[in-house]
Amino acid sequence: MAKEDIQLFVKAQKASYDTKCLHGALDCDEKPIRAHSIQNARVLDLIQTEGHVTMPQYKLVKGEPVIKFEKVGRNDASTFSGLCSKHDTELFKAIDTEPLNVDKCEHLRQLAYRSVMREMHTELANSERLWAIHEEICREQKVDPGEAGSEASIRSLGFTKKAHNVFRYRSKHFDKPTEDGKTPDLRHLIIEMDNQKPVLAASALFSVGFTEEGDIIGPTLNILPLNATKTVGIISYPKEQEAAVKASLAKVFDADEKTLKYELAKLVIQRVENFTLSPAHYDTWSDDKKARVLREFEASLREPKDIPDHPDLNIFL
Ligand SMILES: [Zn+2]
Repeated sequence: MAKEDIQLFVKAQKASYDTKCLHGALDCDEKPIRAHSIQNARVLDLIQTEGHVTMPQYKLVKGEPVIKFEKVGRNDASTFSGLCSKHDTELFKAIDTEPLNVDKCEHLRQLAYRSVMREMHTELANSERLWAIHEEICREQKVDPGEAGSEASIRSLGFTKKAHNVFRYRSKHFDKPTEDGKTPDLRHLIIEMDNQKPVLAASALFSVGFTEEGDIIGPTLNILPLNATKTVGIISYPKEQEAAVKASLAKVFDADEKTLKYELAKLVIQRVENFTLSPAHYDTWSDDKKARVLREFEASLREPKDIPDHPDLNIFL
């Protein structure tokens, strides 16, 4: 990245583009509020150390943007501004006001929906950040941003397309059935981890493939510590995608008790960017473990890839 681009990158990171409520048909004009994709009051509360959690963060090191695991204030961790106050309250009422009950479909559906909403917002924000960089470059070169192309504008359009894919996924599997008075037809794999300290939380949507029409095939993944000794992992997906999701995530679906946590941890490193760790837990890792987890996380960021097995990838430990 050229030096000017880096300055723009950092400037764009600080800008706020959170101007649109993404509810329903995107026709709500209320201003979005900052909300947690991973619940602050109960979940982050369990894993925080002195008010902080550890997350993957972009930083500038010697002029180059790099990813590092860094401490973030719990109030700033995992937040996104995708919904106005009314719609945020309405959509996530059950999971925000009741203790999580994995036997309640409504709870599982709301958790999955929040992961989808957060993903859509993230893709849009990435797109807008890159477009801002493009505009800045055009201003300096005195060309029309609508006419000229740049690497930033191409990448911006790529993120817009991703956001649109998520919107179509949301409409098809959640919004449309709800409008028709039906319950979204989801399936869930619930992984209950007893004797697990609260060290890791996550909320994400990721694709395992695409249909011929270009629609996302993929699940949401939520990992939530419930108390000092129990954590639950929930993989949710549309029923019609059951075979494809199970085949792609066979290592998790077919894991036995001994390998399940390891496989789930590996999936987080490979496919999830929105996860938080307990700083006290992270500090117990060896330097080798920290370096390996970061290396494999970074390697999987652009394109998901297989990563070589190693016991250190079990980030629950
Ligand atoms: Zn709204």
